[in-house]
Amino acid sequence: MDALKSMQLYFNRAADRLDLPESIRKMLLTSKREVQVQVPIIRDNGELETFVGYRVQHDNSRGPMKGGFRYHPEVDLDEVRALAALMTWKTAVVNLPYGGAKGGLAIDPKTFSPRELETITRKFIDGIHDIFGPDIDIPAPDMGTNDKVMAWIMNQYGKYHGFSPACVTGKPVDMHGLPGREEATGRGVAIIALKVLSRLNRKPQQTRIAIQGFGNVGTFAAKFLHESECKIVAISDVSGGYFKSDGIDIPAALRYAMEHRGSLEGISGCEKISNAELLTLDCDMLIPAALGGVITKEIAPKIKAPFIVEAANAPTNVDADDLLFERGIFVVPDILANAGGVTASYFEWVQNRQHYSWGLNRCRQELDHIMGDAFQQVWDLGKEHKASLRTAAYMLGIGRVRKAAALAGIA
Ligand code: NAD
Repeated sequence: MDALKSMQLYFNRAADRLDLPESIRKMLLTSKREVQVQVPIIRDNGELETFVGYRVQHDNSRGPMKGGFRYHPEVDLDEVRALAALMTWKTAVVNLPYGGAKGGLAIDPKTFSPRELETITRKFIDGIHDIFGPDIDIPAPDMGTNDKVMAWIMNQYGKYHGFSPACVTGKPVDMHGLPGREEATGRGVAIIALKVLSRLNRKPQQTRIAIQGFGNVGTFAAKFLHESECKIVAISDVSGGYFKSDGIDIPAALRYAMEHRGSLEGISGCEKISNAELLTLDCDMLIPAALGGVITKEIAPKIKAPFIVEAANAPTNVDADDLLFERGIFVVPDILANAGGVTASYFEWVQNRQHYSWGLNRCRQELDHIMGDAFQQVWDLGKEHKASLRTAAYMLGIGRVRKAAALAGIA
């Protein structure tokens, strides 16, 4: 099932529970604005090549729209539509004063030189500068883009609209970015994981966790969970999985990855396993923090962990999600579990608008507070409605958007 169909299915499950009429569902599922622009550049070989850039602004009932720019060969309008709507529900779940948007280009950034990437980004902004901005729609990094790309966006936007750091988030710390943005998604995942444990009266010291993916999200989730005394028994990256039954020395693994350009390949003291084996390990919690679609209907019956915290976006296929629910496995959905990133982006936007920096400690405290509150609300709603945490999270997000739309008046 593609991303758009999955999002619509989860939406409708929650909408059924909320008793939403068809007319409201149609309004909430229809993007506010979808823009497609021509992005022509002269490549380094002197050839002209033209790309298509997308920005989908899904909903602004709760505030300016927020969502990343993705540079990936599989970007298309339907995918961007689905991701934009997911941002609307995600920002509402954590109660940020935002709506949702997403954008991108169907390119493989690894095949472009830095000059080409800068040119393509600036041309893309030329095409859409008048439809985004601090009070309208605020882009951020996503797959294939990073803080450098965000710096180019701020600079290009400024050529049309003047100094405006709040027009984009995820900028370099030395260019109005946020200290703590890098760790925020992984920290948020760890906060949620610890909340799950405390809700079920389980001690971190007796919790064995397997984490798939040791990139931005996986490393910081591992770091914070290790600091909270959880036992991280398996970690992995594209080179495979690494298992140690009495717990991996996470600070050493982080150092190893740093010294080996992010790779865990060759790390000593661990048994080598496959990424598929990691998913079905005998452990207490599984954290997929790499790719989407890794928990399939074939893998789901073999999963032994009673809790899954979805750090990656859409790691669980819809049919696998149903099987996990039938098996009584708790899945904390992506729209809650990885919302720490957009929450930190919100802090960056707030501070850019105030021209005042909070400092790392305050950012961490505010993040812990927002993630903790959202978890509590989703958990309680799930209990009240005997619904999965995913349906409960969608109910919370959709309910808030619907309320704001109604309050603003539709007629
Ligand atoms: P990243 O590129 O920094 O790291 C990805 C990790 O996954 C790397 O360790 C890589 O080796 C590993 N990996 C790649 N292919 C793999 C495979 N086939 N099997 C196992 N591991 C594989 O990415 P990230 O920023 O950590 O993002 C991870 C996930 O979290 C993505 O789904 C992303 O959409 C989601 N996410 C990220 C953020 C954020 O702030 N970075 C926010 C929300 C959601």
